[in-house]
Amino acid sequence: MSRSTDSGALEIPDLSPAQALDRLRAGAHLVDVREAHERALGMAEGAIGIDRNTLVADPYGHLPDAGAEVLLICQGGTRSRLAAQALAAQGYRSLASVLGGTTAWEAAGLPMVRTDIDDDFAERYSRHLRLPEVGLDGQRRLQQARVLLVGAGGLGSPAAFYLAAAGVGTLRLVDDDVVDRSNLQRQILHADARIGMSKVASAAIALEALNPRTRLEAIHERITSGNVERMLDAVDVVIDGADNFPIRYLLNDACVKLGKPLVYGAVHRFEGQLSVFDAGRHRGHAPCYRCLFPEPPPPEAAPNCSEAGVLGVLPGVVGLLQATEAIKLILGIGEPLAGRLLQFDALAMRFRETRLAPDPDCAVCAAGRPFPGYMDYQQFCAGR
Ligand SMILES: [Zn+2]
Repeated sequence: MSRSTDSGALEIPDLSPAQALDRLRAGAHLVDVREAHERALGMAEGAIGIDRNTLVADPYGHLPDAGAEVLLICQGGTRSRLAAQALAAQGYRSLASVLGGTTAWEAAGLPMVRTDIDDDFAERYSRHLRLPEVGLDGQRRLQQARVLLVGAGGLGSPAAFYLAAAGVGTLRLVDDDVVDRSNLQRQILHADARIGMSKVASAAIALEALNPRTRLEAIHERITSGNVERMLDAVDVVIDGADNFPIRYLLNDACVKLGKPLVYGAVHRFEGQLSVFDAGRHRGHAPCYRCLFPEPPPPEAAPNCSEAGVLGVLPGVVGLLQATEAIKLILGIGEPLAGRLLQFDALAMRFRETRLAPDPDCAVCAAGRPFPGYMDYQQFCAGR
């Protein structure tokens, strides 16, 4: 029973870990009130994990019966006592705190539930682990994911940095270019000292320094009809950071054929746009790039960055939005940008969204239509 002490705080009985285990086996609830990243390193077997703030904010949402026996455990025994006092103040009548916490429980050789994660993982991703929408399961999903990033340039730079930082296990970077001084105004993966180096090698240096846990597959090749399926092999999400029409159509067709989600992004001067094309997995329900643009614009109407110029921060914004969509797709959270085109105007600082419907007559993604085969994309985009 809880009693008030002279100071007004409620006195909470302590149980040794062995006593707590006996009570647990007799039907008491054992609640581990540490943060998710702490619990991820191992918990008393049978405990349920609810961090202290969450529990105290809404105890009845987690433990509806105020008369039930509730034992609280943390790392060393302090937070569990504070949590128990807070529950007592909210009407719980049978509370105890585990003396010495999980440290004492483990030292006593009592059963633990262990995860296979290490300290680096728990610390590095602690801000993800405490988000219920990510958590340990989501972080593991990120670790097991492989993202293909086509282009280690303006869009690919921020996307790659944040995907590596977020813990995407494997990044496959494909780019056949070398670092040029004119790239450094926006392609932040690269550095002045690496001018002349292949972009994928330069990117690997930057990403390795940020997160050595991310495995980098650096491929110094131009993506073509001949190698695209090898590039997409075992990939969960494709990010188009190439920003040129032949590669865009090629990636679209391959992603429809192989059922991979494609995170599209493009920039031009002060404006950018992005979408998620997921027609390969949702035939007839989600559009592909060709539903939006069945044919490329004439080359003179669509100059690239080297011809038209681009505000350096612009691909940063769009590339980060692409990375955001990729992470959501891997985690299966939120509402993906499929079926929507998001346009960004940096000068006006405005976002605009347009609904995109699948084209029932699309040459590539129409429901039931067999794959028409790859085409000569250079000619398709240049020769009309
Ligand atoms: Zn289509």
